[in-house]
Amino acid sequence: MSRIAVLIVAAGKGERSGRAKPKQFEVLQGKSMLTRSVAAFGGLPPQSTLIRVVIGPGQDALYAAALPDGAASITGGARRQDSVRLGLEALAAETPDFVLIHDAARPLVSRRVIANVVRALEAGASGAVPMLAVADTLRRQDGDGWTTLPRDNLYRAQTPQGFRFADILAAHRAHAARDVTDDVEIAALAGIKVEAVAGDETNLKVTTEKDFTLAEILLGGNTVTAMGFDAHRFSPGDHVWLCGVKIPHDHGLTGHSDADAGLHALTDAVLGCIGAGDIGQHFPPGDERWRGAPSWKFLDHAARLVAEKGGRILHCDVTLICERPKIGPHREAMRARIAGILGLGIGEVSVKATTTEGMGYTGRGEGLAAQAVATVRLSGDAI
Ligand code: MG
Repeated sequence: MSRIAVLIVAAGKGERSGRAKPKQFEVLQGKSMLTRSVAAFGGLPPQSTLIRVVIGPGQDALYAAALPDGAASITGGARRQDSVRLGLEALAAETPDFVLIHDAARPLVSRRVIANVVRALEAGASGAVPMLAVADTLRRQDGDGWTTLPRDNLYRAQTPQGFRFADILAAHRAHAARDVTDDVEIAALAGIKVEAVAGDETNLKVTTEKDFTLAEILLGGNTVTAMGFDAHRFSPGDHVWLCGVKIPHDHGLTGHSDADAGLHALTDAVLGCIGAGDIGQHFPPGDERWRGAPSWKFLDHAARLVAEKGGRILHCDVTLICERPKIGPHREAMRARIAGILGLGIGEVSVKATTTEGMGYTGRGEGLAAQAVATVRLSGDAI
């Protein structure tokens, strides 16, 4: 059985993605892109496969967080090709037969595409690259006009790109001074013949925010909604907490915590999306730790449980039911507060209010009630 090294290149700074972290460490449906890229090679025989990751200088903490059980990483260089060369050098002592060089920015690579590359190498190819024919019409801008280019024989190259290990290491050493875009180009400089194998449209390179969305869609999953309801009784006092905002009032609200019925209803809605019971199970009313607790802690806890399940909260909608206090003047502050707790944009948070026309316990002013709906995108792996 041939010995295969897999070199995952994750050293980019990811400046084009507009995200806070380098994109390879960004989470895509509950797992980082790097984690997904590494896992994609899990179909290769473990006894003869060596997987190593090249990261950028200063990215050790991000790597440890993404792959706590991963092998020691290799620190890359300024250009992608420097990172690949340093990765190959670090693998040299292991003398693998083949190496598959893969960009961590392609987390959706299928086992079929990987198998296509390995099969070509094992059949005797000195290099193999997944390629796709160009389907769109190609035009080049020439001054004011456009020239349509013949697209016959034009292909898009993907990764993993596979080579005989010793050959591609020698090629990188010999041509380190050249600027190249991928390893096939280095191979060509060294006269290594590379065979094309079938790539896959779903093996997309995640670069822009739109690519993240597309990758999420390709990963599948499900959009779920759930509701929550809560009510609290008025008591003597001079303020109430509603949706995380302190509102002066001629009464308070009775409750073990801060009695924020809006956040309690929303917490139950979020928990409902993942079937995680209700707020009372997570924060029992008899537990002294939660006496007078600010209710944002409950909502934050529910949001963390969703994230641990690989879910993402997309939207929430809270309806407060009371005659008084007036909600309108505080609505925007409430939306901003909930958005802050859940990490949503304000456009993804709705707060509404209604009365019951004087009827029932809210109409008589005995208390107030709240109901909420949360919408969560659950990842394909969580279902
Ligand atoms: Mg409550």
